[in-house]
Amino acid sequence: MKFNDFRGVKVIAAKCRFCGDAAAYRIDHARMSLCRSCFMKYYERKVYRTIVKYEMLRNAKKVALAVSGGKDSLSLLKALHRLIPENFPGIEIEIIYIDLGIPGYSEKYRKIVESICENFGITLHVYDLRLEENYVVPDFQRTAFKSRICGACGTVKRYLLNKIAYEIGADRLATGHNLDDITEVLFELYLRGSVKEIVRIKPVSWSTRDKLVTKIKPLIEMTEAENLCYALSNELPILGVRCPLAENSRMAKRKKLISMIEREVPGFRHTFYKSHLKRIMPYLVGAIQEPALIECNSCGMPSLSETCSYCKLVSKIRRNRAAQ
Ligand code: AMP
Ligand code: ZN
Repeated sequence: MKFNDFRGVKVIAAKCRFCGDAAAYRIDHARMSLCRSCFMKYYERKVYRTIVKYEMLRNAKKVALAVSGGKDSLSLLKALHRLIPENFPGIEIEIIYIDLGIPGYSEKYRKIVESICENFGITLHVYDLRLEENYVVPDFQRTAFKSRICGACGTVKRYLLNKIAYEIGADRLATGHNLDDITEVLFELYLRGSVKEIVRIKPVSWSTRDKLVTKIKPLIEMTEAENLCYALSNELPILGVRCPLAENSRMAKRKKLISMIEREVPGFRHTFYKSHLKRIMPYLVGAIQEPALIECNSCGMPSLSETCSYCKLVSKIRRNRAAQ
């Protein structure tokens, strides 16, 4: 196991801060060395505290957890599987996996998610885009979205995850977004001054109307490196296969850039996130009105305009097909 290319958590020769045993991980931003067992406790306590701090599970009955099969959402699955029965008894968890039909990628992660859910005895809802919607994400390559395929895929995932969570009767939709994801998005939005979008980046997005499920991000304060260590500590399967459609994406480049900044300014991500949440957000929340949602005239789901962005997107694929 090597963590040297994961700045922030790496193998070191030191003693565990809590128990004095040989440490397995060094967490730079917290200036802490921990053994494997204390790291797992530290991680789970931190996830628990995030959930409590932002009241993510207040009055919740059923959590739909979106699992992509990557280290973040698998770690979240494991942590919630441990934390919920003990700390939030009575709350159900069900898993959603969307098979996006990306060759050499989707089927591999689908197998991982299927086998983990079977091992854990958790209900899994697999949503196969090809079977259910009659298209796959690579179809966007043949549309004007070609160079912005990650954006189109994001719209598909956001829309379907909410719809499936609603249909299975969940009152929370949990995703594995981590601190690295959030700072990457914030970095771009602050750079562009997109205040309307900045105000939406938060740990919990409470439902404001029917068919819109409350979204929670319990790993928002965990770094990608911490999630990797937790996944490895629990021997969760880590494929490490990247989406072939996202190679060299602008998002990947920004993440690299932020890792370079973090190397020079340890704790950069935490500082950026905390300043956003504590210093900037209170002003923005008062100044920016949340846009009113209406019902999509095509699918009936919540939408910002007459036809929702998902229906518009899918109609492009269908039009493209008809023209061929
Ligand atoms: P990404 O948009 O790929 O950065 O993923 C962010 C989060 O969205 C993941 O941690 C998962 O919770 C969820 N997610 C991404 N892809 C899928 C998928 N194919 N099926 C279910 N959930 C997903
Ligand atoms: Zn629609």
